[in-house]
Amino acid sequence: MRVKKGGKMKILVINCGSSSLKYQFIDMNGENLLASGLVERIGIEGSQIKHEKIGMEKYVVKAEMKGHKEAISHVLEALKHDTYGVIKDVNEIDAVGHRVVHAGEKYAESVVIDKDVLDALKDCIPLAPLHNPPNIIGIESMQELLPDVKMVAVFDTAFHQTMPAEEYIYPLEYKYYEKYGIRRYGFHGTSHRYVSKRVSEMMGKEMEDLKIITCHLGNGSSIAAIKDGKSVATSMGFTPLEGLAMGTRCGDLDPAIVTFLMEKENLSTAEMDNILNKKSGVLGISGVSSDFRDIEEASANGNERASLALNIFNNRVKKYIAAYASIMGGVDVIVFTAGIGENSASNREDICKNMEFLGLEFDVEANKVRGEEKIISKPNSKVKIYIVPTNEELMIARDTLALVK
Ligand code: ADP
Repeated sequence: MRVKKGGKMKILVINCGSSSLKYQFIDMNGENLLASGLVERIGIEGSQIKHEKIGMEKYVVKAEMKGHKEAISHVLEALKHDTYGVIKDVNEIDAVGHRVVHAGEKYAESVVIDKDVLDALKDCIPLAPLHNPPNIIGIESMQELLPDVKMVAVFDTAFHQTMPAEEYIYPLEYKYYEKYGIRRYGFHGTSHRYVSKRVSEMMGKEMEDLKIITCHLGNGSSIAAIKDGKSVATSMGFTPLEGLAMGTRCGDLDPAIVTFLMEKENLSTAEMDNILNKKSGVLGISGVSSDFRDIEEASANGNERASLALNIFNNRVKKYIAAYASIMGGVDVIVFTAGIGENSASNREDICKNMEFLGLEFDVEANKVRGEEKIISKPNSKVKIYIVPTNEELMIARDTLALVK
């Protein structure tokens, strides 16, 4: 393996979905993003790559891409492009970090990918049937195209493997945990880890000395409680469906509703799954959109169901914050991140309203920002509140660097 002296490494971060692929190419010397992009409609008519060399306009290529291997070939070509490229030869890619959704109970940290790791990811397919297969295809295609380059897998579930059993075991017959691995795994781990570490730095404290609640509020949303530097609770569960009300996912429900609806509406498991994952959440309640910008606009224009959707969303975040403070025996800092957490001042304000009993003194004026690192609690607030934009790709690149060094 080529590892350059002095930590001068350039790392490609890959996030493969079923029909899309996101990438970032980062120079770890200074952690500078050199290029990023998105391949869409892989295996579907109309595939294209949108590539951006930082500081230049986007470079878009429409080309048939039957699978992920072809998509990755296009990524490598774009990275080498005469005008929009950032390398002359693929041997300037020193390592590749792959985002992988599910590692079950096998990995609590990122790992260098070898055959055993790939086998373990394949074993986890039943737990993440939509996510792990494209992640695995992405890794195998990359290995074929760059056979000499070391690759690292960074898992969404890994950070939450430190939860105690009372948080991850469901009150079901225990045999289902043993037989099928039915337990809480939690997701967005890389984001919760990044923002909790970053907020500790911003506060000038060790993460191990803080009780942190991280609110990742995006298309998918989850909250985590982090104590002694470890995740001790999180709101997503066996799948990303549990917890908060999300763009299109229902979050916590009385499970009896599922069987009731299946019987009344004569629904198959696939149809029920589609309702819970794609038609519920703030989209289902408002009937307007899954995008909070549309819902906020509709609410401001008097749409009552849009207002109801926002109230339900914010109420749940509040409840999880209080619950997680209670299991940690307090909270020192609350962090908002991801699309809604970083950008929606009104959601943050509604969530932090009437929380003085918990020690939160929210600063309405300081909160009037979007997408920047900032403290939004008043100076005398016992519990600090921060906005910290997430950066999962950088976290993946850092893990990759640490493991291949
Ligand atoms: P993903 O889970 O796809 O990574 P993001 O973290 O990018 O999602 O969050 C996307 C969501 O963020 C959008 O659907 C939208 O609801 C919300 N969002 C983005 N910008 C704003 C904004 N200015 N105000 C309110 N919500 C916003």
